Amino acid sequence: MDIIRLLPDSVANQIAAGEVIQRPASCLKELVENSLDAGATHIQVIVRDAGRTLLQVIDNGSGMSETDARMAFERHATSKIKEAADLFRLRTMGFRGEALASICAVAHVEVLTRRQEDEIGTLLEIAGSDVVRQELAACPVGTNIKVKNLFYNVPVRRKFLKTDQTELRNLIQDFYRIVLVWPQVQFTLVHNDEILFDLPAGTEKQRIGQLFSRSLKQDYTSHFVDIKVESELVSIHGFVGKPESAGKQPQQYLFVNGRYMRHPYFHKAILTAYAGTLGADMNPSYFVYFDVDPESIDVNIHPTKTEIKFQDEQMIFQILLAAVREALGKFNVSPSLDFDVEGRPDMPVSRLGEQKYEMPRISNESHYNPFHSATQVSKDWQKLYEGLPKSQEPIAEPMEREGREQTLFTVETPTGTPTAVGNRYIVVPDKEGILLIHRVRARACVLYDIYMRQIRAQQGVREQLLFPDIWDLNAEQVPTVLSLKDDLRYLGFELEQLSPLSFSVNAVPPQLNGQNALAVLQNILAEVTATGSSVREEWQKSLALSLAYSAAGGQQTMTEGQMRELMDQLFHLNSFTRTPDGKMVLLRISEDEIARKF
Ligand code: ADP
Ligand code: MG
Repeated sequence: MDIIRLLPDSVANQIAAGEVIQRPASCLKELVENSLDAGATHIQVIVRDAGRTLLQVIDNGSGMSETDARMAFERHATSKIKEAADLFRLRTMGFRGEALASICAVAHVEVLTRRQEDEIGTLLEIAGSDVVRQELAACPVGTNIKVKNLFYNVPVRRKFLKTDQTELRNLIQDFYRIVLVWPQVQFTLVHNDEILFDLPAGTEKQRIGQLFSRSLKQDYTSHFVDIKVESELVSIHGFVGKPESAGKQPQQYLFVNGRYMRHPYFHKAILTAYAGTLGADMNPSYFVYFDVDPESIDVNIHPTKTEIKFQDEQMIFQILLAAVREALGKFNVSPSLDFDVEGRPDMPVSRLGEQKYEMPRISNESHYNPFHSATQVSKDWQKLYEGLPKSQEPIAEPMEREGREQTLFTVETPTGTPTAVGNRYIVVPDKEGILLIHRVRARACVLYDIYMRQIRAQQGVREQLLFPDIWDLNAEQVPTVLSLKDDLRYLGFELEQLSPLSFSVNAVPPQLNGQNALAVLQNILAEVTATGSSVREEWQKSLALSLAYSAAGGQQTMTEGQMRELMDQLFHLNSFTRTPDGKMVLLRISEDEIARKF
């Protein structure tokens, strides 16, 4: 007996729906993108119960003919591409012809649509892929589509949904990603009869202001400078935040050809341009729009994927870096930068512990009390070692650096009184003169040692979060995060996968000093990805170092006791004169040298 048979369409569609429509937010995204593809200039979104009961999109776009309205719900039915080559010339948001077919497989769908040239429109009702009603109906030009009872026939999916609050947050996040790049279109979003957004058509800058100003009272966009660069390869324009307005919860958006994208590498380019201007745990906001030849990017990928592959990423990295630097420089917001060290095409991302970590110069949080958590750390640091094996070999072994000799130091901790020099250094007299200690690097060495021990012992100290953070990732990042999950756990991060693309962060390392855990994690991920190594040991070192730098940067001022404590920890390391990535931690100026100066 033959046993292979074709799945009925309804089943195939349900399977496909699992990929395309994961939650109300992805459904809404598909609907709105269709409206945009149809040339709508006004799009109304009506949502009930975070999209569980109703997602409705009303547009004034092209509308559909009677036949097209019916066809639209078939799989691989699309008006947007005709042949494979079209895939490389895409300017529309959708193209796979899968969304509507997927949606109608898992919901009750009602469409009311009319084209300009038709006198009467079409009403179509579909449930679980079956057309239950099709008739002529009077309606305005455009399309009005209702998606009701999402996942009514897929209990597993329904159970998978989070609280309304979380689903709504996802929905709004996707909404932001669309409306920010379509400012010329008027949008409204109504949830449970409450108007959440009413966004008139305008410029990009106005749209940014519409979305983000209200929380900041004054004009949000005044915190930004414009960037603009045209080249054969790419046109880039947008707005980057002035360093002084950087914060712990930055708005960071990248778009290409009218679509939101994640791009850790370009993100890195932007951050690199800020080097030296930001407080340790401060991150800049930015809205950057790329325009490239559609043939030079690859969007023919998974529909929910926001990662986009560019042909000339390294060149674009350089162009972007230069554009942001210029913009920041032009407005005199960035100090003179060292152009030689960074920004060479082949290297900027692959180095650990770039400058960005070491400048807690700007301490603008006068009310922030660093001692609160810092004392906690200092009380507990020895406990962190408890039960951990003493390392046989030095953990903070400095990497070799050409042409730089390794200064030898006596191992005892200096007993003189340590004094802070600004926020960056500690000065302390010792037997032979004075010793200058780079604070952040010193602390990074200490933490690195702790973290490596934790990883090696496969046990770590965690601080449970009362309100877990949600870490949204793109599909390409997920496998990396999954393979790092255990090591991250030893470092103190407890991650739990919530959905294919998101994790909740339930616990964090106790040394974070109130820094944004998601920002730290993003950073770690970027660093580890940049090392490009598949050797676990390398990853672990890179993880430990990245976290050590992040955590070390969090503290603004130190008491004498804390300085002593830090020195004590530092001088007990097997290797403490340089950071694991080879930067100088200590500088000794001998009495002779001092004498010579006089
Ligand atoms: P895709 O967008 O990938 O083509 P969809 O399943 O999302 O696939 O939509 C199928 C087709 O239905 C589209 O190609 C388009 O012709 C038509 N369509 C969908 N939504 C609208 C709309 N709001 N207005 C006009 N036409 C639409
Ligand atoms: Mg579509």
